[in-house]
Amino acid sequence: MDLKRRDFLKVLGATAAGSLLPGCAGETKKLIPYLLPDEEIVPGVANWYASVCRECEAGCGILVRVMEGRARKVEGNPTHPVNRGKLCARGQASLQGLYNPDRLQGPLQREGARGEGRFKPISWEDGMSRWVSELEKHPGGAVLISRPVPGTLARLFSTFIKEISGRLLFYHPSAERALAAANHRSFGIDLLPEYDLANTTYLLSFGAPFLSDWLSPVHYGFAYGRMRQGRPTVRGRFIQVEPRLSLTAASADRWVPIRPGTEGLLAVGIGQVILQEGRARLAKGDRGRFEKFYSAFSLDQIAAETEVPREGIIRLARGFSEAAAPLAIGGGSAAAQTNGTNTLMAINALNLLVGNLGAPGGIRFLQPVEGFHSAQAHPVSEQALLDLRGFFKKQKRSVLMLYQSNPLYALPSSTRFREVFEDAAFVVSFNSFMDESTALADLILPDHFFLESWGDFLNEGIVPTAGLAQPVVIPRYDTRPVGDLFLSVAKRIGGRMEERLPWIDFRTMLREQWKTFLARRERDKSFEAAWVERLQQGGWWGPEGRLVSVSRRALPDAVEPARFEGDPKEYPFYLSLFESMGLHGGEGANRPWLQELPDPMTSVVWGSWVEINPKTAREYGIQEREIVRVISPYGEIEASVIYFPGNRPDLISIPLGQGHTAYGRYAKGRGVNPLTLLAPMIDPLSGTLATGATRVRIERTGRRGRPVLVDQTGEGTRRHPEGKKGET
Ligand code: SF4
Repeated sequence: MDLKRRDFLKVLGATAAGSLLPGCAGETKKLIPYLLPDEEIVPGVANWYASVCRECEAGCGILVRVMEGRARKVEGNPTHPVNRGKLCARGQASLQGLYNPDRLQGPLQREGARGEGRFKPISWEDGMSRWVSELEKHPGGAVLISRPVPGTLARLFSTFIKEISGRLLFYHPSAERALAAANHRSFGIDLLPEYDLANTTYLLSFGAPFLSDWLSPVHYGFAYGRMRQGRPTVRGRFIQVEPRLSLTAASADRWVPIRPGTEGLLAVGIGQVILQEGRARLAKGDRGRFEKFYSAFSLDQIAAETEVPREGIIRLARGFSEAAAPLAIGGGSAAAQTNGTNTLMAINALNLLVGNLGAPGGIRFLQPVEGFHSAQAHPVSEQALLDLRGFFKKQKRSVLMLYQSNPLYALPSSTRFREVFEDAAFVVSFNSFMDESTALADLILPDHFFLESWGDFLNEGIVPTAGLAQPVVIPRYDTRPVGDLFLSVAKRIGGRMEERLPWIDFRTMLREQWKTFLARRERDKSFEAAWVERLQQGGWWGPEGRLVSVSRRALPDAVEPARFEGDPKEYPFYLSLFESMGLHGGEGANRPWLQELPDPMTSVVWGSWVEINPKTAREYGIQEREIVRVISPYGEIEASVIYFPGNRPDLISIPLGQGHTAYGRYAKGRGVNPLTLLAPMIDPLSGTLATGATRVRIERTGRRGRPVLVDQTGEGTRRHPEGKKGET
């Protein structure tokens, strides 16, 4: 949704009064309509509040329309550099998180055995005392698994955990650890880059689903629009390489349905042709080692492995290297393999070959926003979580804490992560919903929803941005801001901990952080004046960011096809699990708007399905909508078949996000969780779970399913040439 600039000027006027309202407890009460009439709360007249969307890790700027104390609508903030007034479906549906009937409404304590699902209400005082006493009983053993929270909350968490000698793991399943690991190896920088998509003239994407759920979808969707239609004389060309025709691939000029796990080899083949044809723009000192690396591969062998014809590889190499501003990116299915990091390094090498580091339309790394504690750049991999199994076994007395994190749903059962919960002495969850992990907690101390909370969020884009989040409504339930909880425990523990975390509440800590931050940037204003302006604007964004200089230009150690679990004779299909646009990895499953958002490729709503190429389905005698059993060496699921010509014939695709065993009425018991099929295969270089590394077979059940499709025309998909290998 777009908010016009003219409207936004009105917003600023309204916000000038409104944004101050949640400033302190007394002022916040002004948001209650009718009970406490106020000249600023006029029935039927809206106030707009600027804040930051926390529905994914992108941190878009938002404006929330509030009438009579109720948040009515969320729009993109037109001045925010990340999303420039746009918003995705998840951002729109955030109101259904705030007003979700299944939100946890106050502190709870377990009754009966752990996991039995019986809880009783407890007072905050008792809950906090219980938490503190468990921390004191188990010194040196506490572990906090938190979603990545850049900014002031990261500083609070890391200080707290350091003082109790615990472990802090920032984790999110889509944190693209393989990309950060590849960048570390290729360029010596353990950061996610900023891709200048808007100014690219030839985009070669290996599996990166940037139009649905990759890195910062609204940001890259906007840049993509500019690349294709925003320049009067240039329309950027776009090639997508991936085994399944995703939403992103469907928007490309050409889709290359490559054999899964061979994307790195294709990148090497393209690089070899660029070098051999003398089109590389390499520094003199690099030429020798690049030639040595690429000469070790045979183009014919690469064509055979990837199932992309030799002529197709040559055509891609010429198109890419002849372009004025070429860019290669990788992620999604290309990174979801046991060779994911090496694949992404081979893709990085293509950017080195065309010399686009720091160039317009190329790849660049930006300095973090100065003056903040930035932990966003360092989320951990799945391997780091799995290492906790040994830690908890050894300690036997550790406290596990969860903040907006649901690892029991996100990790396949084959990883045996449940053992961590079984071995933990005490489990505390600060999550807002009774999800799969929270259901195994001993104590639940629910956080405010993000629209009720203070916070900040850093983006290291070309425009360095520190988003500022403020409460837009008073809290609906008896929840507490997680920052306040940690500061209050710091006080109870006392001593050095209290010295390091002396603030009375999180809002005070945040303001102090911003006081220091703004003092260096807004010298001509008092802090109060600058603070109010930042609240009105939704944060601070500066002039163009400074580039990180890249000193290393490394090639991958080895590029070879990925490894797969499952004998191809018994399990003849590759498996592709993809995040759906609305549900993502499953976090959106408790929002009805997102459940009824039609999948853009199949139009299915409210459920799970199995995508099979029609030729394959006919070979097996499978009717469309028949329920099939998908079986791997580790598990099985059943779901209805949708004929999907955009699948390779040897590929089975299933969306992620459904199959919750908890997480509220809209999510629980709906569809299937295909993660149960996965083998615990890890990319050893990044520690990332290789979700594409398990082979499967299918069996008919003879039963007919009833998937809900809202549009059955099938338009918008392109047919894979049935049985014929190669490009469409
Ligand atoms: S991409 Fe969507 S969900 Fe993520 S922060 Fe932006 S609006 Fe929110």
